[in-house]
Amino acid sequence: MQFIDLAKQQSLIKTNLDKRIQEVLAHGQYIMGPEIKEMEAQLAEYVGVKHCVSCSSGTDALLMPLMAWGVGPGDAIFTTPFTFIATAEVIQLLGATPVFVDIDPRTYNISAELLDIAINQVIEQGELNPKVIIPVDLFGLPADYAALELISKKYDLKLLEDAAQGFGGQIGNRKAGSFGDAASTSFFPAKPLGCYGDGGAIFTDDDELYETLLSIRVHGQGGDKYDNVRIGINGRMDTLQAAVVLEKFTLFPSEIKLRNQVAAQYNALLSDRVVTPEVKDGFTSVWAQYSILAKDASDRASLQAKLKDADIPTAVYYPIPLHQQTAFNHLGHQTGDFPVSEEMSQRIFSLPMHPYLETADIEKICGIING
Ligand SMILES: *Cc1c(COP(=O)(O)O)cnc(C)c1O
Repeated sequence: MQFIDLAKQQSLIKTNLDKRIQEVLAHGQYIMGPEIKEMEAQLAEYVGVKHCVSCSSGTDALLMPLMAWGVGPGDAIFTTPFTFIATAEVIQLLGATPVFVDIDPRTYNISAELLDIAINQVIEQGELNPKVIIPVDLFGLPADYAALELISKKYDLKLLEDAAQGFGGQIGNRKAGSFGDAASTSFFPAKPLGCYGDGGAIFTDDDELYETLLSIRVHGQGGDKYDNVRIGINGRMDTLQAAVVLEKFTLFPSEIKLRNQVAAQYNALLSDRVVTPEVKDGFTSVWAQYSILAKDASDRASLQAKLKDADIPTAVYYPIPLHQQTAFNHLGHQTGDFPVSEEMSQRIFSLPMHPYLETADIEKICGIING
């Protein structure tokens, strides 16, 4: 059994995918070819925002808006320690300070209540300048944007949605990628909408930010090709990868439904032996991961071992919260600083999840876990 089955998906679109790739080989515009604009237009319309700026990865999709907002030394950027390294890495890369805020134990997303407290602490301490909040739509579930947007307005902070896992999720009729001042996503192959390499995109309604992102994406270019007006990066996405996304995107709406059916089957079949994920009323997850909680670390290890014996792969996202990782030692955090993230990192693990997972496989997995 596979953790994520990309071969099945490819077999469904193979003919058109080959055609798309051949078209790129024929026109030869490997950088910023027509597929780039075509993909950006389709994705912006899907998300319901004015602008989509494709870029080289989900990491650069986080980095570029922070660069556009002038984030640097002395700035406090609030985010969760229970995420992939990229979310906080880009903050540090710009010389700003990641200020971690613990998560809600049921959604694994940043706690709005604790965020408010953390912002107040930074203001009281008076050393750092609060600037941006980066909530993460972990495992495909959008964060609590009703509360987060209120907080960002209250303190006049930018809100950057990390939708690398959340693209395809919703709150009511609003799509992930439309929350806050800008949103970032990733087309890494294992994400809900992936390409066959690295790629990413930024979404925003802000015209000025859009123009700045276009410049940052190409080395800070200005009107004159040889007079660069700011420091940027080589942040472009390949035309070939946009062609892949365009073809995969034709399946995406049906795949979101299928992912939700798989999750519903897991929810129905798994017993109280484990804690299943919670999706609050009005929220739709895209199920980038289906993650459950064991009783404790040793219970998790034994469940993972039993599944492995039956040739069923599992994974742990995330075994070490960011504040406990070596790269962030300099922040001076200690065990106990973010107790919810720490506990989840001991108990959580993810089961195979993709749109084409068969009912028989789901039954087998649940049978083994229920014991
Ligand atoms: C995957 C991921 C990223 C980074 O995306 P890449 O395309 O791999 O650079 C950022 N944030 C989160 C939450 C992710 O899961």
